[in-house]
Amino acid sequence: MEPKKRIEELVELLNRYSEEYYIYDNPTVSDFEYDAIYRELENLEKLYPEFVLPNSPTQKVGDYLESSLEKVTFDKPMLSLGDIFNYDELRDFDNRIKAMGIKPTYVCELKIDGIASSCQYTKGQFVLGSTRGNGSVGENITDNLKTVKSLPRTLTKKIDVEIRGETYMKRSVFELINQERLNNNEDPFKNPRNACGGSLRQLDPKVTAKRQLDLFGYTLVDAYKYGVGSQIEALEFIKELGFSVNPNYQYCENIDEVINYLDKWENERKNLDYETDGVVIKVNDFALQEKIGYTVKSPKWAIAYKFPPMEVETKLLDIKFTVGRTGCITPNAVLEPIMIAGSLVSRATLNNEDFVVNKDIRIGDIVVVRKAGEIIPEVVRVVTEKREPHLEKFKMIETCPICNSKLVRNVNEADHYCLNNLCEGRIKAGLIYFASRPAMNIETLGERLVSDLYDLGYIHKITDIYKLKPLRHELEQIDGLGEKSVSVLLDNIELSKKNTLAQVITSLGIRFVGGKVSKILSKNFSSLTELAKASVDDLIMIKDIGINTAISINDYFKANKEMIEELISLGVNPIEVKVDNTNNLFSGKTIVLTGKLETLTRDEATQIIEDLGGNVSSSVSKKTSFVLLGSDAGSKYDKAKALGIKIISENEFLELVNKK
Ligand code: NAD
Repeated sequence: MEPKKRIEELVELLNRYSEEYYIYDNPTVSDFEYDAIYRELENLEKLYPEFVLPNSPTQKVGDYLESSLEKVTFDKPMLSLGDIFNYDELRDFDNRIKAMGIKPTYVCELKIDGIASSCQYTKGQFVLGSTRGNGSVGENITDNLKTVKSLPRTLTKKIDVEIRGETYMKRSVFELINQERLNNNEDPFKNPRNACGGSLRQLDPKVTAKRQLDLFGYTLVDAYKYGVGSQIEALEFIKELGFSVNPNYQYCENIDEVINYLDKWENERKNLDYETDGVVIKVNDFALQEKIGYTVKSPKWAIAYKFPPMEVETKLLDIKFTVGRTGCITPNAVLEPIMIAGSLVSRATLNNEDFVVNKDIRIGDIVVVRKAGEIIPEVVRVVTEKREPHLEKFKMIETCPICNSKLVRNVNEADHYCLNNLCEGRIKAGLIYFASRPAMNIETLGERLVSDLYDLGYIHKITDIYKLKPLRHELEQIDGLGEKSVSVLLDNIELSKKNTLAQVITSLGIRFVGGKVSKILSKNFSSLTELAKASVDDLIMIKDIGINTAISINDYFKANKEMIEELISLGVNPIEVKVDNTNNLFSGKTIVLTGKLETLTRDEATQIIEDLGGNVSSSVSKKTSFVLLGSDAGSKYDKAKALGIKIISENEFLELVNKK
């Protein structure tokens, strides 16, 4: 397409999206998609400056001024920020500044995804609040801002001053409000930012008050008037005035330190109780900022690094079925590969038949895929507006994709099962699970190698893994394996014999017996032999073991008697020395870990707590006995403080434990 025509098309499209986003607080495309189209326009405009249109979004600050709220004109414009999406662009930004003969230091601040707000004070009293509007003219939202508890009505100093910042809605509040809206048959808000925007522009402040908004201050206008010369000092000054300042800002000596900050927050932002869509990087020194200057739309001394999205749209190419070790059949989405939160994703779980049917997911659909932390990517929903008309409804398979036996779905269960114990798919999955990290943790015996060793006839059941040693020379001949890797593999297998009883029980892959139940069993039985002898009645007497689990354990040991005996004879026979837990340090206590610990890993800390009779929980509640606090703790720390729960440091914890 001709560049002029494409530019016109993009401007029209982006302006429509902006209208939906800014006026109706109801975006129809993701920010990621918007930013990608914006980038295309920006690049074309650079190549063909003669075609730049006056109404192009690159030429103006975002918000529209369509509401009936009174208008406010700014003395100093409220600008937007240039966006960057990778570290090369960040280094370009740094180099551009250095090319001016400047050696910059930076301040990194989390980019809060809310609504930019200006707050003006006369003699320390809050007198005027407004949105950013088009940068020169904003909307008067004074009465609405007065309902924001974290905005001081009176400052600690009786000065005239303008502070700018971000009004936002906490995630926890957003969830509550959406639940309430659903209960009242109202449409839920799409995200906290849109909920915040809608709430701030209300004509009735009583409605805004109910939305429990918050505000972080970050800009001190005309800072020189107060003798403030840098962004770090400005943040301190704003805090002193009584504003809430986001505590996670950091001074960075150079761009490498900035990159460390970005790496850290890309992961940790998910633990915060508010949305951040990136990091704002600002040159610290105000005199240097002025020297570096501005474009029509944004300062040249600051830049917004946008995090890769946690949710993106992509095409569902196919649905493939896998067989688990218990015979459970899982439909998996085969996706057009796409970057999510920094990693390339081409598969996502579709869980089971009901999941696919309820969301009406069809091959060929455009779907929204989410990745949160370490969790396997999942398909959140179908973008039905983008569905092509001919797509066929999903139909669950009726036979096992590996052994072809008929699948069974029990009443009241969502999963389909292959019941054939000899199904190759099940056996392989069981072997892979046995060697995997949460089970026997046999490093280097991964999915691929297990599958190859199975296909070559070396391992067909778990005991075969412990019979590989005499076959060393044969194994060395296998493609992809050599002397060194076979040696490492055999060492790792040998090492796994030292695993705890709980690990060994977990690795057997007994239905309903995961890590937690295995730990309970290992506290009640001292060896595999003892556990294998337990009757259903014995098992059911144990707290937290239900009837289905008891039957499943008993069935397993009856069916696999010889295999277990062989495993023991091959040296996989951990013996648990029983300790009396009743007098233990953490007996009956529920402990929450938060942040990064210095000397212990999370698994080690959990092990210590459990060994001393305590329970580790992932969320803070009134029942929490204490929180073990590491560095860079997030919302759990805030919640513990709010609930008055005891908080102890890693050193205090170690002291307690060592005394014991
Ligand atoms: P921006 O969101 O990229 O950045 C500027 C804003 O960041 C500032 O105005 C301020 O409000 C905010 N900010 C948060 N924390 C800050 C801090 N610590 N210091 C300084 N500023 C901070 O730019 P924009 O012009 O406000 O909005 C454009 C963006 O909005 C686009 O990049 C896109 O992601 C989104 N958008 C989406 C759609 C859609 O349809 N999905 C439409 C229009 C715009």
